[in-house]
Amino acid sequence: MSRFFSGKFSGLEAYVPGEQPKDQKYIKLNTNESPFPPSPKVLNALTRDELELLNLYPDPTVFSLTSVIADTFDLLPCDVAVGNGSDEILAFIFNAFCDKERGIAFPDVTYGFYSVFAEMFSVKYSRVPLREDLSICVDDYKDITDNVIIANPNAQTGMYLELSEIERLVSQNTERLVIIDEAYIDFGGESAASLIPKYDNLIVVRTFSKSRNLAGARLGFSLSCRELANDINTMKFSFNPYSINRVSLICGVQAMRDTAYMQKCMEQIIANREFLTEKLISMGFEVKPSRANFVLAQSGRISGRALYEELKKRGILVRYLGDKRIENYVRITVGTREQMIALVFAIVKILECNK
Ligand code: PMP
Repeated sequence: MSRFFSGKFSGLEAYVPGEQPKDQKYIKLNTNESPFPPSPKVLNALTRDELELLNLYPDPTVFSLTSVIADTFDLLPCDVAVGNGSDEILAFIFNAFCDKERGIAFPDVTYGFYSVFAEMFSVKYSRVPLREDLSICVDDYKDITDNVIIANPNAQTGMYLELSEIERLVSQNTERLVIIDEAYIDFGGESAASLIPKYDNLIVVRTFSKSRNLAGARLGFSLSCRELANDINTMKFSFNPYSINRVSLICGVQAMRDTAYMQKCMEQIIANREFLTEKLISMGFEVKPSRANFVLAQSGRISGRALYEELKKRGILVRYLGDKRIENYVRITVGTREQMIALVFAIVKILECNK
């Protein structure tokens, strides 16, 4: 830390993203990216004519994208706010709606950025323990007057709450905001976007990084009533009105339009998730029921850390999170069938050596 770093950040522990090795030799199953390329429509839209316009600023209202998103979710463009990844949208939300008095609550095992944002913006926060089986129980939130943020499916576990449970959470107390982070919802869940016309205390956060195969374009968005969307856009325009660059804007519009391609990719991921789950269970693993593009699994025969290290030696990167409650687990991104087969073979070998 330099001597100029503001004292208000002296205790800040930055978010640690999964490893991004520079060489391509790893099978990369550690950051929940899509193993598939972006839609061909995205690739075809990136023409030289478009790139030649990079001397001009992009449209700060990103209207072409908010319109196609609004159409997809049966909402209006004014109900949508777009950010540089859903991380940026989440940062705007924490900064806009939470502070030292009106804090935020979230599960004790979830996306690591929630506590980082809370620290960064001096927001009061509390962690609500997951149940013994690592599930979220909506009743545990009924007496909380602070805002609530839940990832559904939950980050790290992949476990899913039915839409009726989400509605129960939102309607428990309409004086607090409920933010549902749906980064992984397309892999087998039902979105809470349909509840937006009914509740003005609900924000749904989505990303293009997973099911739309565009992690590198950095695009995320929120869906909410227009007043909340306006507040989020106030944050954006007070920070960086041009946070969505021209290239990403084109990619986002095409990716959102190409539902057929997304469905095709989703079907493969879901099939590969079931394949991987079955194989892991047959090798004696405990696997959390996942509706995401990853599974959280632990073996009684090898620790999570050792499995991560052994797989890395064999050219396969998975995520070892090391958080207390999931200390023995690894989180594995669901990739192509070939990647899943290579992983299963590697685990068989590792367990053999570990006998
Ligand atoms: N929410 C959750 C639950 C996530 O796991 C992630 C990605 N790691 C994000 C949000 C952020 O995604 P992005 O910024 O790529 O849109």
